[in-house]
Amino acid sequence: METYLRAGFVSVAITMVTTFVVLATIPLMGEKPAPSAYYLMTILPFLVSFPLLSYLIHKADQAAELNKNLQAAYRELAALHAQLTEKSRKDDMTGVLNRTAFLEHIESLKEDQQQGTLLMIDADHFKQINDRFGHLIGDEALIVIAQTISAAVRSNDVVGRLGGEEFGVFLKGARKSDARAISERIRASINALEFKPTAENRHTLTVSIGGVTTKKANDWKRVLQHADAGLYEAKKQGRNRVVLLAA
Ligand code: GH3
Ligand code: MG
Ligand code: MG
Repeated sequence: METYLRAGFVSVAITMVTTFVVLATIPLMGEKPAPSAYYLMTILPFLVSFPLLSYLIHKADQAAELNKNLQAAYRELAALHAQLTEKSRKDDMTGVLNRTAFLEHIESLKEDQQQGTLLMIDADHFKQINDRFGHLIGDEALIVIAQTISAAVRSNDVVGRLGGEEFGVFLKGARKSDARAISERIRASINALEFKPTAENRHTLTVSIGGVTTKKANDWKRVLQHADAGLYEAKKQGRNRVVLLAA
């Protein structure tokens, strides 16, 4: 309806302009329009322009609507793509970065010349939890451990699951004393968890932590191996402890 109204308005305007031009120019040429010409000069432009304009306005409206829908679909697709990218970087179970994303992240720190401390955290005697309470309870324990690590680090630190019951943490810019305080906070808060696998049982969760502080950007994969040596040492010394090594 609105299309016809707009086409009607414009057609009336065109008709008025053509009529005015004809009425103004014919006397200048020394002629006088025949009475039937009045009829033709008002009706004809309207008859030609109204259907044509109705069609064109209708098509232009359709194109605008299509364009609007396309832009909305594009925005939706871009948001979905961002969500999927974000999801593909996360470990499904614990919600922290997965191994690939974590390693990519620490590798990218080389470009930023970022120094800091890399930690490797491994749940102690985790096999016993699965053996005693089952794999599902084991999964729950891993989720709580990941949440506790994430809550114990600072907001710009990076947490990832390296695999199984093992996590990696990069403490951005942390020198040894900061790193010691934060890794000790991680260890202690996991140790203090009230983990209840069943209504009757309470199980104490502990982790061992190995770490390396580097003074400058480094080959982080090699630093990770070095941190693993710290972790091995922490296990050897009796577990539920932190061993930080010099770079
Ligand atoms: P340690 O203190 O020496 O690290 O002992 P551990 O028992 O933790 O180490 P081990 O490597 O012998 O066993 C790791 C266990 O972690 C075995 C494996 O079934 C369990 N595990 C690894 N990934 C998962 C998981 O996603 N869910 C569950 N429930 N268990 C897992
Ligand atoms: Mg373990
Ligand atoms: Mg392990």
